[in-house]
Amino acid sequence: MGQLFIVLLLGAVVSDWASAERGKTRRLHVTTYSDAGIPAYEIIKAADTLRLIFRQSDINLEWTVGDLSADEATLVVSTNIVSPEQERVLACRARRDIAIRIRRAAPSSTRASVLGVAQPFASRGLNVQIYYDRIVAVAAGQELTNADVLAHAIAHEMGHVLLRSTAHRVSGLMSGVWRAREYGRIATGNMFFAPDESMKMRLALDGEDGCSRTAPGGTSLSVLQLPAR
Ligand SMILES: [Zn+2]
Repeated sequence: MGQLFIVLLLGAVVSDWASAERGKTRRLHVTTYSDAGIPAYEIIKAADTLRLIFRQSDINLEWTVGDLSADEATLVVSTNIVSPEQERVLACRARRDIAIRIRRAAPSSTRASVLGVAQPFASRGLNVQIYYDRIVAVAAGQELTNADVLAHAIAHEMGHVLLRSTAHRVSGLMSGVWRAREYGRIATGNMFFAPDESMKMRLALDGEDGCSRTAPGGTSLSVLQLPAR
């Protein structure tokens, strides 16, 4: 009985913490750079859908249209991760807001199935890139709007950044390959982050991600070189 009471009490504490953690809405700044010639109504619709997707995770997006002449509009800092320790350090140094570039066309070397790419460990420059020609092709093939495919592709890449991971799930928004099930959920406006993904993203935005913010002089975070390509 005593054990049961402790378990129940612990359950209550955990669920109180979880609901308090969930009840608080985080803000996330998103800057978009685009020279893809996307119609304004499509951008507005995609931004609305993205806000909705992230609101389900208790994250409010602040959306800014960036100036293409800004340095970060063309800066891509790639990281070459060689060990789990290096990945942890880079994850802690990664930028915590989102800088998106929507490109008119994917590089010819990119596989046809790729809609975009994320740099989850970039400390500066772009951390999301989207290929608009691929968005249009998928939308036409799946009988979806460009705006819906664009919003969900951006959400997927932003997920990589906020989860500090290039890993994929077997299904859903963070799956590596979207199939009929995922496209059906996009069509019905029902594709969101999984609860555990949402919680991890919120913890990252809260700085509750195991990263030390008080390392003396930041020395533990500055020893690694970031090979740029
Ligand atoms: Zn992915």
